[in-house]
Amino acid sequence: MKKAGLLYEGKAKKLFKTDDEDVLWVEYLDQATALNGLRKDIVVGKGALNNQITSLLFQKLKDEGIESHFIEKLSETEQSVKSVKIVPLEVVVRNIAAGSFSKRLSVEEGTELAFPIVEFYYKEDQLDDPFINEDHIKVLGLADDTDIAEIKKLALRVNQVLSKLFDDVGIQLVDYKLEFGRTKEGKILLADEISPDTCRLWDKETKAHLDKDVYRRDLGELVPVYQEVLTRLKK
Ligand code: 5GP
Repeated sequence: MKKAGLLYEGKAKKLFKTDDEDVLWVEYLDQATALNGLRKDIVVGKGALNNQITSLLFQKLKDEGIESHFIEKLSETEQSVKSVKIVPLEVVVRNIAAGSFSKRLSVEEGTELAFPIVEFYYKEDQLDDPFINEDHIKVLGLADDTDIAEIKKLALRVNQVLSKLFDDVGIQLVDYKLEFGRTKEGKILLADEISPDTCRLWDKETKAHLDKDVYRRDLGELVPVYQEVLTRLKK
């Protein structure tokens, strides 16, 4: 397989076409952003860590019967994925109150939720990814009832597998963001990445942040923290 032209450049990844129209080539970048791109920094080593962590997690999900767009890791910073059309939704699953949930609803960070909740945000940078409900999704034509049900079911299955996986290595999976895509046959497939950039991960004992909040909240160096997550997952 050969890498071809650049298709899209995001905040943390570049996406290239390949000589196979069903396969795309993802390159993870050494770039960290916050506040919808207003704050931007080069963080050497972050791309390789997120590529390795995402590859490992997608492989573990596959082993548990949850398919994703992931095909294989190609190098330290690159992976091949199935070409899908991304559904413009950020699907957030929460197990423990934190971040925007705590702020908006005044629930103390760290409060365990009675059950995992699924939230939807409209993936639209110009609008700052607003919180939306299922009626909004249908009225905007982003997904229909069947797709929404499938996305929720998959998001919660991912939660079961990943919560256990992280728990086994002393990490609480607080919350995370998933994205889904549609194959050309119309099948909904888990896509994008799953990494400390897109998850809140807390050390079970110390409650230390092992995720992008280290950068967002200026709590210290990001690379050693992401390395710690990878090292634990590889054990
Ligand atoms: P919150 O809504 O509390 O800001 O975020 C909830 C979870 O989703 C966090 O784990 C956060 O990392 C992830 N998340 C939400 N939106 C985004 C986004 O636009 N980019 C990334 N990388 N993660 C997001």
